[in-house]
Order: sequence, then C-alpha cells, then structure tokens
Amino acid sequence: MQFNEKSYSLGSKRSIIREIFEYSKIRAGEIGADKVFDFSLGNPSVEPPKQVVDSIKELLETENQTLLHGYTSAQGDLSVRTTVANNINQRFNLNLTPNNIYMTCGAAASLSICLKAVVNSGDECIVFAPFFTEYRVFVENALGKLVVSQPNKDLQIDLADFESKITENTKAIIMNSPNNPSGVVYTESVIKGVCEILEKKQKEYNKVIYLIADEPYRELVYGDIFVPYLMNYYKNTLVCYSYSKSLSLPGERIGYIAVNPEMQDSANVYLAVCGAGRSLGYVCAPSLFQQVVKKCIDAKVNIDAYKKNRDLLYNSLMEYGYDCVKPDGAFYLFVASPDGDAYSFYEKAKQKEILVVPCDDFGVKGYVRIAYCVDYNRIKNSLDSFKALAKEFGLIK
Ligand code: PLP
Repeated sequence: MQFNEKSYSLGSKRSIIREIFEYSKIRAGEIGADKVFDFSLGNPSVEPPKQVVDSIKELLETENQTLLHGYTSAQGDLSVRTTVANNINQRFNLNLTPNNIYMTCGAAASLSICLKAVVNSGDECIVFAPFFTEYRVFVENALGKLVVSQPNKDLQIDLADFESKITENTKAIIMNSPNNPSGVVYTESVIKGVCEILEKKQKEYNKVIYLIADEPYRELVYGDIFVPYLMNYYKNTLVCYSYSKSLSLPGERIGYIAVNPEMQDSANVYLAVCGAGRSLGYVCAPSLFQQVVKKCIDAKVNIDAYKKNRDLLYNSLMEYGYDCVKPDGAFYLFVASPDGDAYSFYEKAKQKEILVVPCDDFGVKGYVRIAYCVDYNRIKNSLDSFKALAKEFGLIK
C-alpha cells in the first residue's frame, strides 16, 4: 500500500454510530421519519442559548470583520484566554493565567493535542470502560498504547482494577465524567481514590503520570450532582473542555485545554501543548467562536428538556424490566442487553424501528447506548416498541 495503512483502515472502517445514522435516514425515506426511533447520535437537540445567537449577530455587525475572521495567535486570543482563565478560577478557586489556557477546535482536538504533548512512543494510557471509542484513535495517533480499566457494577471506577493496570510505562489517564456512553458521574470518593493511587504510583515509579480530564458534559447534570474539578484533587491534571454540548455548538468546533499551573514543569508542558497543536496542524481555534465564548462565558443551554427525556425514558425502561444505571449527566442511557449480547439487542430493536448503538467497542460487553438528545415525542412514541421488545426478551408478560 502506497499510502498510510493505519489512516486507510480508520477511513475505510466507518464508525458504527455513523452507519446507524445513515441507515436511519434511508429508513425514514422508506417508512416516514416519525416511524423511525433513532437514538444513535450524540448531537444536541437543545438550541444554543439566545445569548450565543445574539452575540454572533452583534459580532458580525459591530466588529472589525478582517480581525474577527483572521488568524488569532496559535494558543488563542489573549483576551479570550484571560476570560476563560478567570472563569475557571472563580468557579473552582484556582490561580490560572491566560498562559495556562490553549483554545482548541473542541474536546476531540483538546484530547489529541494533550496526548501528543505528553505521550512518547510506547507509553501506556489508561481509560476507564465504558469509554468514548475515539480515545483509541487519539492515543494510537500519539503512538501510545491504550489500556482499559474495567468498571464496577455501578459503572463507577473499580479502584483495585485501576491500580492493577498501572505500570512503569503508564504516562496518562483519561477520565470522562459525566460519561459517554453511561451518563454516570464519578463520585468524589472514587476520584479521591484514583488520585491517591496516582500519587502513590508516581512515587513508586519516580515519574509523572498525567490525568487528562475530558469534560464536554460537565454542565449537563441533572439535579444536585457534584462534578469534582480534577485540578483540585491532583496537580498533574490537564482539562479538555468543549462548548459542543454546554452551548450546543458541536459543528462550530470550539473548546480549550487548561494546564494546571501547579503541575510539575507546567510552563514546559504548556509549550509541548503548543507544539502538539502546531504539529497536528490546528493553526488556531475558530476566531469568531473564540469571541463568542468570551461574550458568553457564563451562558448555558437549558437542560430541562434533556432531564425530561431522561426521566421518561429511564422510568419507562425500568418499568419494562430493562437493566440500566440511572444516568446523572450527559444525554445517554447505557442499557444491558437482556440476553447479554449487544448485537442481538441492536438487531431486535432495529426490527421494531428502534435504533440504538451496540457498545462492545466501548470496552464493556453486552450493552447498548441510547442517546436521548432527541425530540420528546420521539421518546414518547417509541415506548410501545420498547415495551414490545421487553416482552420479546421475556422481561415482562
Ligand atoms: N469526548 C467525549 C466523551 C465525547 O462524547 C465527545 C463527543 O461526543 C468528545 C470528546 C468530542 O467532542 P467535541 O465535539 O468537543 O470535539
């Protein structure tokens, strides 16, 4: 093969989620969109806040358009980074400066850059199952090796399993809470446990182990749920943030990396972040949306619709006998297949026009993911089919 084999394999193997999404469009053409219950894609179903839309209009009407659409410095506009740093400091009682912030094209870019910044060839990166499948792509692109830690029965981190996965080659841990695909928010006590283990292992191996917090769903929690900010628990932390979900802007590609100023050799890690962004060819984050973030730093999407969806779907599935951990955040339900086989659940659901994602690739076998970031009526109208499926599996009479 003349071209890069690894890239070819990534490009030619379509993600199952995209495949299901494509099928759903074809099926909608055949039987009508209202009869297909597509729960495959994590695309926000809630509009961006009005403040965001107003800010875009205002920027387009009032700013110098050459500057607004021009390159910014590679790490992002200074005033934007100052606003972001101040906001983090105010919310989490920290002391970041603009020189700890690197603006990115969303969490996917943040993760790729952080991994490329800290991982050397052959280093191991631990992820907690179930995990966002793109982690494998990003870790391997940084020439690292993905190591999977299995969860406990509540889909929280199993500390003993985690500890057993750390070796002298461990370079980084990726933690995603609220979690895609489970919706689980890791408790403070679990996070303290993880950080204690990391401190111990850093001493034992006399090396730094980085904690990379992947936080696109931080603002999507339902009720009085505490989402610990990892820099407050562990110094060697990099935060990968995104406005894709918190402002419903996934197509605009905007987020940031925050490097803890308390981290060992923090200024040089930040320079490695800048170098990784450069080598990956990101140039700079979208200039217009950097300014939008600055103007809307405290804006949030209205998550009432997601909560309403979660409550209806979760309560109904429980009533029909399905097995699922109640999600406190994000917009996913992670449901165990009643016969233990994710693909049989997927196929049987498909027969009833319900499209869910079989999740074996997410690191735990036998589950499907239901993305409930959809119109409320889609959930309401799908319930009879979920019930019929439960009967077929023998969960109810
Ligand atoms: N990390 C997780 C856990 C995600 O679910 C996603 C997107 O769904 C991303 C990262 C990438 O998000 P972004 O759109 O910010 O690149």
